[in-house]
Amino acid sequence: MTKSYTGRLPRKGGSAVELTRRQFFGYSAAGTGAVGVSALGFDIAEATEVKQDLRIDGATVSHSVCPYCAVGCSLLAYTKKGHDGHVELLQIEGDPDSPVNEGTLCPKGATSLELGISRRRVPSPMYRAPGATEWKQVSWDFTLDKLARNIKESRDRTFVATDSDGNTVNRCEGIAFAGGAAFSSEEGYFATKLMRSLGLVHLEQQARV
Ligand code: SF4
Repeated sequence: MTKSYTGRLPRKGGSAVELTRRQFFGYSAAGTGAVGVSALGFDIAEATEVKQDLRIDGATVSHSVCPYCAVGCSLLAYTKKGHDGHVELLQIEGDPDSPVNEGTLCPKGATSLELGISRRRVPSPMYRAPGATEWKQVSWDFTLDKLARNIKESRDRTFVATDSDGNTVNRCEGIAFAGGAAFSSEEGYFATKLMRSLGLVHLEQQARV
């Protein structure tokens, strides 16, 4: 059972003593090393005992991998079903059994819980039209159509079939592509093939590992 300190402590043999938090810690420090009942009339050792259940007690532990970079640190994700049947993600931490990260995470990986539960996470694509000052939420259909149209227009406009020496090059110089470190090998292979098929020469990758 979880107990919490309320600022009201029992006096031996009867009424209670009201203390502010500051007074409580002051008396606790002064009473360190004292045996048994203190000058205040209560047993410091007994009064300061606080038991807490871990938030992850009884949670399901799932193994996962940090999505942020190619180091591939192992994660433990703790989930628990709430009273309404909804499964809640409670905690993500480094897996101590992993030979990659031995339980540690860099600051980015340590915040990966926020990927799942942050209220500030953007829930849909955002679009700011040319000249507009405000972003607005748009649908994925709108976004994919817009991307396809922009790629087609840029490629048509900047495609180079032959270079200045007359060599056939068939390249698109007006578009660059940056991959994300969260790509799997297969996604990276697919993205590279797709971009090369469009003639892109400027391919980059965020990870520096
Ligand atoms: S972002 Fe940090 S925690 Fe995540 S895989 Fe890379 S080094 Fe590990």
